[in-house]
Amino acid sequence: MIANLSPATDRFALLRREQLEHLPQLAHLPRSERDALRAVAHVLPFAVNRYVVDELIDWSRAPHDPLFQLTFPQRDMLAPEDFERMYSLVRRAAPSAELREAAREIQMRLNPHPAGQATLNRPATHPHLKGVQHKYRETVLFFPSRGQTCFSYCTYCFRWPQFVGLEELKFAASEAGGLADYLRSHKEVSDVLVTGGDPLVMRAEMLERYLEPLLADDLAHVTTLRIGTKALAFWPQRFLTDPDADQLLALFERVVKSGRHLAFMAHFSHPRELETASAQAALARVLATGAVVRTQAPLIRRVNDAPEIWERMWREQVRLGAVPYYMFVERDTGPRQYFEVPLERGWRIFREAYSAVSGLARSVRGPSMSATPGKIVVDGVSVIGSERVFVLRFLQARRPEWVGRPFFARFDAQACWFDELEPAFEREEFFFQPAMEQLAAEQRWRTQLRPAASPRAAS
Ligand SMILES: *Cc1c(COP(=O)(O)O)cnc(C)c1O
Ligand code: SF4
Repeated sequence: MIANLSPATDRFALLRREQLEHLPQLAHLPRSERDALRAVAHVLPFAVNRYVVDELIDWSRAPHDPLFQLTFPQRDMLAPEDFERMYSLVRRAAPSAELREAAREIQMRLNPHPAGQATLNRPATHPHLKGVQHKYRETVLFFPSRGQTCFSYCTYCFRWPQFVGLEELKFAASEAGGLADYLRSHKEVSDVLVTGGDPLVMRAEMLERYLEPLLADDLAHVTTLRIGTKALAFWPQRFLTDPDADQLLALFERVVKSGRHLAFMAHFSHPRELETASAQAALARVLATGAVVRTQAPLIRRVNDAPEIWERMWREQVRLGAVPYYMFVERDTGPRQYFEVPLERGWRIFREAYSAVSGLARSVRGPSMSATPGKIVVDGVSVIGSERVFVLRFLQARRPEWVGRPFFARFDAQACWFDELEPAFEREEFFFQPAMEQLAAEQRWRTQLRPAASPRAAS
């Protein structure tokens, strides 16, 4: 299987906007369509590799092909007037400064910082520690500065501001040592989730430098290392034919041998990503290290908004030894109006797929919104008394005591995100809102009144 990979797809390289012109698969499109792609790619991040182009996208179905929608910019991702503006600049070959300025202006209107990420999740005891977010008590998110790109860009990604240079690696770590120090003073943390971008774009050697300090004896309370990655879907060669593939797998083995749980939080958007011989071989190699592969993806219109897709995907994941974990609701950022699925429809898709698979695939939870107060799952639509309501529940929350407690929002067939919901039964607010406001006030106090309190402030 490994030997059968074509030479064109065994070396990793990203094709970007400048190379769109040279893609043979796009050559049959009219000039105006190619210009439209380029116009949008000035505003939204675009980068794709040959494996995605040659083996995942079904070009006979483009532009409707889900994998094409997943990776290539589309005209309707921008508001019509924004699109027209970029398109006319591209058509008249405007100077790049002018293109950049127009693109920036549009980007700033696309809600680049949803869900209080930029401030509320900063580690309270080390507010200036870069690259660390600590939102839920037991799990710390770590963004290594060298892992801030991906094997291809998903058009729906909520991390898009960091790919278009809107935030100068705001979340990126300056060093792995800072993370280890932080964890030493936070014994409540059991999980570190290394994320990005995609941390596996790093050479194995670099990843070692980040992970090995976490295996220290005085960090025994950190029992789980998680790696958030789409490499299995977008570049399975990472585990097969990349020059450091074996070194990478040996690192995973060392983590497992240290007595920790190594969890791959593997992003799969569509079953086709699991169906190539190389994806299956890569998954088998990762599992052979002792890692557990859990899968997650957002529900995206035009990419995977049908129950059959999720059913097929979860079945295939279980067959191959992976554990279905989360179905997310698309976040409130970027070209969301292009991708969004109303909550009610999302719940119906989830339920139909969930009820069609065996209990082993029902480890999955969803549809879940990563909102400012926590991960909120839509358990369903119900009628209580005479009122139609959404039944909601925290899967994760800023305050652990909020988890697992059903609460209710007035039913709204159009609502696509939590901030569009109102409490049911004539209540003024949801039960957690007073505490949430208090948390926000505390955070303002910390960031405004004690700006240089941390010893790391100077670093
Ligand atoms: C989802 C998420 C986690 C992990 O949550 P689990 O439910 O434990 O998988 C941690 N931190 C943040 C900010 C998250 O969004
Ligand atoms: S792989 Fe993940 S981080 Fe990278 S573009 Fe896709 S969704 Fe975003």
